[in-house]
This record gives sequence, structure tokens and C-alpha cells, in this order.
Amino acid sequence: MQTNFSSAQLADPHVAESEKILRKCVHCGFCTATCPTYVTLGNELDSPRGRIYLIKDMLENGRPADKEIVTHIDRCLSCLACMTTCPSGVNYMHLVDHARAHIQETYKRPLLDRLTRAMLAFVLPYPQRFRAALKLAKLGKPFIGLFEKVPALKPLGAMLKLAPASIPAVSPMASPGVHAGQGTKKGRVAILTGCAQSVLDPAINDTTISLLTRLGVEVVVPPGEGCCGALVHHMGREEAALASARQNVDAWTRAIDQGGLDAIIITASGCGTTIKDYGFMLRLDPAYADKAARVSSLARDITEYLAAIDLPEPVHKLGIIVAYHSACSMQHGQKITRQPKELLARAGFIVREPREGHLCCGSAGTYNILQPEISARLRDRKVKNIEATGAEIVATGNIGCITQIASAAKLPVVHTIKLLDWAYGGPKPEGVRDESLIAAE
Ligand code: SF4
Ligand code: SF4
Repeated sequence: MQTNFSSAQLADPHVAESEKILRKCVHCGFCTATCPTYVTLGNELDSPRGRIYLIKDMLENGRPADKEIVTHIDRCLSCLACMTTCPSGVNYMHLVDHARAHIQETYKRPLLDRLTRAMLAFVLPYPQRFRAALKLAKLGKPFIGLFEKVPALKPLGAMLKLAPASIPAVSPMASPGVHAGQGTKKGRVAILTGCAQSVLDPAINDTTISLLTRLGVEVVVPPGEGCCGALVHHMGREEAALASARQNVDAWTRAIDQGGLDAIIITASGCGTTIKDYGFMLRLDPAYADKAARVSSLARDITEYLAAIDLPEPVHKLGIIVAYHSACSMQHGQKITRQPKELLARAGFIVREPREGHLCCGSAGTYNILQPEISARLRDRKVKNIEATGAEIVATGNIGCITQIASAAKLPVVHTIKLLDWAYGGPKPEGVRDESLIAAE
């Protein structure tokens, strides 16, 4: 695509980066076919190609964002299906990240939208605040219907709907410290404790630590870790995202210096995509660029890590039919497609892949709160495809997808690691019904 930026504009490294991306796009439109918002809404401006044109026009003219561009960029899930489809290697992720930061800097949103976003950025990345907010949400549940009737309050209704009925206790395993591996030491890794996942389902990381240590891997929970920054990054709050990235880079650099790390294990693929991008996000910061690149190079999804080490035979092969839902951040963001399915199959599960597996479930960070209608349409489509597989259980590797799919599916939805842990001698995951076992026998 031809671009028309002045040399003064290109002196800004963010603009220069976006210009390089824009020039790669050849307008072929292949990406429209796999874009969930185009497939759902049928509007070219809600397709990757349409958004690329809007971003190009805004950046080339050095204009502040307007209502039209904000509407169409806000509707983008950042699912990155377009990047998987694109034959020209257009890095839509970095382009839309730049557009979101530009919107945040130049556009004044309506008051309630501003307040909702500020509240999400204040609460979600901090486990203690999120836990307190979930307790408060119980009081708001009776008013969901009321909130859903007022357009500006719909995000509040969506938030209350997603809030779980009960909140698990804080896990002592998430506290900073070292979990020694059993038997011959096979490796040493750090684990990201994260934010929302540690409140909604702390058992995901507990299970990961338990399985890794049984396999002989030492697991470090480094002091000073926090939210990966993805939630605020996708809202265009660049400084907040970079502050989170720096905090984690510091924590993991200390862990590397104090005993070395083979990997930084991440159990939420949304976080994994962002941490693997820290090297790019902090490339302009001379104090952090190298350290961030090192951290990104060590980041591994738990399934990526397990697939690369020697695994014993599973303790029992359960033979249960599992629908594997590949989170967008897993398949498009990190290009991890094979490993989770192969691990499940090797552990004795019968893996089925739902139709339209490339389409997002509508969770996408805070998307199911900020865009509840499109999100619900995508969720229902996803659940229909999952249920058509005839599976007993749904497995996936991202807490956002777990919450989203579980809000409409009749099947239990669990993190992939819990099924693997079960097959390798751990307990049956909570929520998995005994009928699943009977059906498998
Ligand atoms: S990231 Fe997803 S929703 Fe956004 S343009 Fe690409 S395919 Fe469409
Ligand atoms: S598939 Fe790639 S090159 Fe083609 S329009 Fe989409 S982004 Fe541009």
C-alpha cells in the first residue's frame, strides 16, 4: 500500500513503525473472511482491511481520532485472526496497538465510557481490588436487567453477569517463593501469577506448579510480579502497560540473576502474547530493551514447555472426549496450535476440534464487558460449534475463554493443564462431572 507520511511524521518511531506495516498491506482482503467482526456485522469498516484504511487515514493526516474510527477500532477484538490469514505478513497487532494509544491520547469518550474504562483499569490488574469488586458485584446482581436496558450502562450489566457466584480462597502457592522439584532436577522456571486468573481460578497455577514439581521442575514465584499489562494495553493505556511490563521484567531479571531460568511459564495465553511482545513494547527504552527482549525469549505457554520436555506415560488414560478450544491469543497471537492437542491426546483424551475454530469466542480481555452484544453473538456461535462435537468436557488455555464459554455452555470448561494433571496422577478437576468418567468407561 502506498503511504504518504512527511519526514517530520516519520521522525516519530511509532509512526515510522506503523508506516512500515501499512506498506506491506496489498489490499487483497483475504483477512476479511476470517475476521469475527466482519463475519458478524458484514461491514467493511469492521474488517481488518477497513480498519487498516481508517488507521492509515488518521495517522497520515495527523488527525485526532473521531467517533467513526473509535467505533470501528473499539469493535476489533484484537483476536489477530487477520494476522494468521494475511499472506503479506502485515503486523496488524502493532498497528492496532498504535491506533488505540492514539485514540487514548486524542479522543474524549463520553463520560460513562470513560468512567467504565477507568474503573476496569483501576480494578482488574490488581487481585485484591478485583476480589473486593467481585464481592461487591454480588450486591449488584439483582439489577442486571435494569442496567441492560440503558445503553450506556450495558457494560456494567455485562460485568455483573460475568462475576462468579463464589470466589475461591487466595492460594498460598501463589506467594513468592520456590517450589522444589521432586527427584532428579529437570529444570528451573518462573511462573506468572497474573491478576484476574489468580482470583477467578487460582487452581490453574496451583495445578501447574504441582504437575511441574512432580515432573522434577523447580518452580519459582518471583517477588514483585504483577499483571502482564495486556488489559490496559488493549485499552490504549500505553504508560500503564509499559509500567507493568517493566515491573515484571525487573522481577524476572532478578530471578534469572539469582539462579537462572529455563523458561517463564504462563498459563493464560492472553498474557503470553503480551509478554512475548515485551521486547517490542520496550524497544525504545534503553534501560529495558535488552532485558525485555531476554524475558520475551524465555516466555512459554505451559503447553509449549511441557511439549518440549520428556514426559512419562500418563498414570491413567481416561479416554474422555474433549473439545479443544484454541484461544485466539494461543493460535493467532502465539501460533501455538499443535502442542495442547498433542499433549491431551498423548495423555489419553480423545480430542475433537469444533468447527470455525479460528473464530474468537468473544471474550478478548475486556471486550465482553465493553462490547457485550457482539461478544454474546460470538459466544453463542462458539458454544453451538463446541456442543456439536459431542464432547464431555471443553479444554482451553485462557481464563477469559473459560469464563466466556462457561457462561453459556452446558459442558464443564476447564484449563488444559487440569486435564493433563489429572491424567498424570493429579485430582479430577473441579466441575468435571462423574458422568464424564462413566461415559468414558
Ligand atoms: S484482530 Fe480480529 S477482530 Fe480485529 S481486525 Fe483482526 S480479525 Fe478482525
Ligand atoms: S490479508 Fe493482509 S495484505 Fe490482504 S488486505 Fe488483509 S492485511 Fe492487507
